Amino acid sequence: MPTIAFGGLSCRCEGCLKKINKRVMEVSGVQKVEIDSNDVKVTGNFDPQQVIIHVWKKTKKTLTAADKGINEAAMLKIEKMRRASRATVDKSDNICCFGF
Ligand SMILES: [Zn+2]
Repeated sequence: MPTIAFGGLSCRCEGCLKKINKRVMEVSGVQKVEIDSNDVKVTGNFDPQQVIIHVWKKTKKTLTAADKGINEAAMLKIEKMRRASRATVDKSDNICCFGF
């Protein structure tokens, strides 16, 4: 099964890493999520755009894939959703615990 690494984590506190892990696991086809010092490594048969979009929807955090095409396509969709609705974020998820 392929593994794709995502960067772009803005906060690495325990709370944020847990949220990212949980949200990435919700994406269809994802089998495993590992977060190391630089990347979020995701294993499975999944759509990498969906990982970026789902994490953004739930946490407003923007992961980035190494593949520029994937990022650009995901950003276009996020931009559309951002304009269409301001209520896509689950408030409880959007709180950073700032290093707790
Ligand atoms: Zn945090």
